[in-house]
Amino acid sequence: MDTTERTTCCVVGGGPAGMVLGLLLARAGVEVTVLEKHGDFLRDFRGDTVHPSTLALLDRLGLAERFARLPQRRVTTVRLPLGRDHSLVTVADLGALREPYNYIAMVPQRDLLTLLADEARPEPTFTLRMSTEATSFLVERGRVTGVRYRTSDGRTGELRATLTVACDGRGSSARALPELRPRRFTCPMDAWWFRLPRHEGDPSGLVGGAGDRFLAVMIDRGEYWQCSALIPKGSDGLRRAAGLGRFMAEFTAAVPWLADRAHALRSWDEVKLLDVRLDRLRRWHRPGLLCVGDAAHAMSPVFGIGVNLAVEDAVAAARHLVGPLREGVVGLRDVRAVQRRRWPTTALTQTLQRIAHARVIGPALAGQPPFGDPGRARRITGLLTTSPWLNRVPAYFFAYGAVRERPPAASVR
Ligand SMILES: Cc1cc2nc3c(=O)[nH]c(=O)nc-3n(C[C@H](O)[C@H](O)[C@H](O)COP(=O)(O)OP(=O)(O)OC[C@H]3O[C@@H](n4cnc5c(N)ncnc54)[C@H](O)[C@@H]3O)c2cc1C
Repeated sequence: MDTTERTTCCVVGGGPAGMVLGLLLARAGVEVTVLEKHGDFLRDFRGDTVHPSTLALLDRLGLAERFARLPQRRVTTVRLPLGRDHSLVTVADLGALREPYNYIAMVPQRDLLTLLADEARPEPTFTLRMSTEATSFLVERGRVTGVRYRTSDGRTGELRATLTVACDGRGSSARALPELRPRRFTCPMDAWWFRLPRHEGDPSGLVGGAGDRFLAVMIDRGEYWQCSALIPKGSDGLRRAAGLGRFMAEFTAAVPWLADRAHALRSWDEVKLLDVRLDRLRRWHRPGLLCVGDAAHAMSPVFGIGVNLAVEDAVAAARHLVGPLREGVVGLRDVRAVQRRRWPTTALTQTLQRIAHARVIGPALAGQPPFGDPGRARRITGLLTTSPWLNRVPAYFFAYGAVRERPPAASVR
């Protein structure tokens, strides 16, 4: 039998955006319920990069010490395959920034989400419901008034709320609403995602390589390498048909220090295909509903910046909405203010990702030089590597984004 409950803010999705929003609102005394369809935070293919803006946020929230205790690797440079034979060139040296957090922390996302959940749970106004999937929106006189949900053991119910925030990622159910259709941008690649064992003496951090029509990125997760191969979009079937042995031979030719474990991957079942998408909603809201994070703008893995952006959206949303939520009335003006605040930085980031797709990754996957001309690529990389002040601009952007968001004062501890 359906149950009907009420909360002030219903957050759909317990990813980085949803968990940060839940924590900030709960600390500010707003009643908030986060619905997460999975039973745990263990997801293989999620961004593991925690950028300086998120590190600074955790610090302001009093979580810096707990975060520092999580197993992590630190990365200070962002590199793109702009060099000769697509070798990686440093385009941003975060280590040169004069900021307290001048590195990217590589932390399994489940650890970050668990930390946020553990911190939020003791708050009396916070509820996290795992294994609970929002199945549709409740709409009354054009206003979203909450969601219908289903739990993994088959129970169903309605959760009514003053405001519903969709933090359910790029497959968000909010995107089915007629006013919230995304504008899509072309992406030249998909990603294969698999693990290889990590050995003593391997490099650490984030390591890249380039092969024949694919790019390799390896994330150091301590005991194993989370490997990604960027392949031309739509080429999954054809490449699989050519055989796993052939792919591993090509892969280890591009990343020779992994050659001794080429046989660790035994079947294609261990290689997951991730459809890379880049899009954004024209409108992130309608009465009673706001979309943030990937639900509002699906990010490409380029620059590993999507988690960061999702967290910053959540911080801006909390800052704008704590007041109206406390008063129990959230108008269109309030949700519009969140989009207005976050749209420019989202559009700028996606524009840079589109440039990287079109000028660097697309050509690399087609076996061509970046920027279509080796001379131009050399001049650009020369400029970035020889003028530290020029390098500091992308470094600051990767680290903190175009605008820095501050959490509501009531959430800071
Ligand atoms: C191949 C690939 C690699 C990437 N690598 C990086 C990287 O290294 N660094 C980086 O910063 N970004 C990376 N990104 C982008 C990054 O993963 C996203 O931008 C980021 O996860 C968005 O966070 P979010 O909280 O908005 O959404 P998500 O992380 O997608 O979280 C959404 C949550 O909602 C839950 N959910 C979905 N539907 C429902 C429902 N109906 N009811 C309840 N719960 C629901 C999901 O289970 C999930 O927990 C990568 C993207 C891709 C495709």
